[in-house]
Amino acid sequence: MTDMPALSNLGAIDAAHHLHPFSDMKKLNAAGTRIIQRGEGVHIFDNTGRKYLDAFAGLWCVNVGYGRTEIAEAAYRQMQELPYYNTFFGTTTAPATLLAQKIASHTGAELNRVFFTNSGSEANDTWLRMARVYWKALGKPNKTQVIARKNAYHGSTVAGASLGGMKWMHEQGDLPIAGISHINQPYWYAEGGDLTPAEFGLKVARELEDKIDELGEDNVAAFVAEPIQGAGGVIIPPDTYWPEIARICRERNILLVCDEVICGFGRLGSWFGHQHYAVSPDFAPIAKGLSSGYLPIGGVLVSDRVADVMVAELGDFYHGFTYSGHPACAAAALENLRIIEEEGLIERVRDDIGPYFGRAWRSLEEHEVVGEAVSVGLMGALQLAADKTTRRRYSKPDDVGTLVRNHCLDNGLIMRATGDRMLASPAFTIAYSEVDQMVETVRKGLDHLRDTVCE
Ligand SMILES: *Cc1c(COP(=O)(O)O)cnc(C)c1O
Repeated sequence: MTDMPALSNLGAIDAAHHLHPFSDMKKLNAAGTRIIQRGEGVHIFDNTGRKYLDAFAGLWCVNVGYGRTEIAEAAYRQMQELPYYNTFFGTTTAPATLLAQKIASHTGAELNRVFFTNSGSEANDTWLRMARVYWKALGKPNKTQVIARKNAYHGSTVAGASLGGMKWMHEQGDLPIAGISHINQPYWYAEGGDLTPAEFGLKVARELEDKIDELGEDNVAAFVAEPIQGAGGVIIPPDTYWPEIARICRERNILLVCDEVICGFGRLGSWFGHQHYAVSPDFAPIAKGLSSGYLPIGGVLVSDRVADVMVAELGDFYHGFTYSGHPACAAAALENLRIIEEEGLIERVRDDIGPYFGRAWRSLEEHEVVGEAVSVGLMGALQLAADKTTRRRYSKPDDVGTLVRNHCLDNGLIMRATGDRMLASPAFTIAYSEVDQMVETVRKGLDHLRDTVCE
């Protein structure tokens, strides 16, 4: 074993050598990074021994909680027997194959095949190429364009960031790439105006139809959306939204892609987010909850409609990753899914802790700086508002979100803020008392905002 250097040096070493994702390195190096050392259940501990309640499950992923030695042991056993072999040239390993079968056992009748990747970003790159080869194989080579949504998140690779609808990401690196356009998101609170949520849901869904008309149906391959937009602020669509999207995709012969990287594997109290909304996608990118983040693994679920054409017509698909279906990652994912099944964690999210969390969370809506408190399963958002009766937002959304988030952090609670929305996504194993503690800490953060910022 190599020895880790004395922990007191790590901050300086980090500043000298480590470029962090999604970080302002000048600010981070000046402030110093927090060093996380250990996790147990829903808690993490930093190198000074400080304990935090992680209400975000890492990055929406540690769904079975920290400290699951069974997952570590499954990976260890696999690494001793066979640490690596590829799935490229006529070979497979048992964990990769059995994981594909296990995943398919929880999807609807139409999604029976999995293509493995290492991440959600790669999963989005993968279906984009698949969608284009699918239409080409059917003699429609012009069906290449993709319609996505503003404020969506589909990853950080060139295609992933292009499919995503974050303007500030597009500005770095000349994105989006050609052939991708974005329509409005179903964000009623901020963008719904005088419409009811139901009317607004239909209106933004029909933007898809308008965009297809504008581009020409014969030029459009697919529409992609997260069942609930996650990084964009947990934007929960009105009930009218998804049925209308599904109708349009079906009638206009456009492939439907549900990005399940967050919603998949139980976060909404169903195995997949598209099941919650009762729609059938042609592709579903997955990652995060597949292994609860214990090891990196992702993939794309592919519908029979597409997979059958690819198998019958395509010949070689020139695409894949050295670590597609990595046996140790697949073994960890299989163990993670075994835990989810045997402990009934999805039922727990649907029937027990999810509703409990939902009630506690919604109690925050009474607070005078909260415009709405919404959740599905264990995925929640609090909209901060300067005037809740008129839905007027604070003039500096990022500042108010950061203020509440930092107050929570100082009080031992890890939350995330996207602009003026506070986001929660705890592990499925969170206890009632931990939900109560979380909500009370957030309430104090909201008091702090009310007492500090007047608009
Ligand atoms: C996190 C995320 C991704 C990207 O996954 P990575 O593993 O970080 O590449 C893609 N889509 C959604 C919806 C995500 O939340």
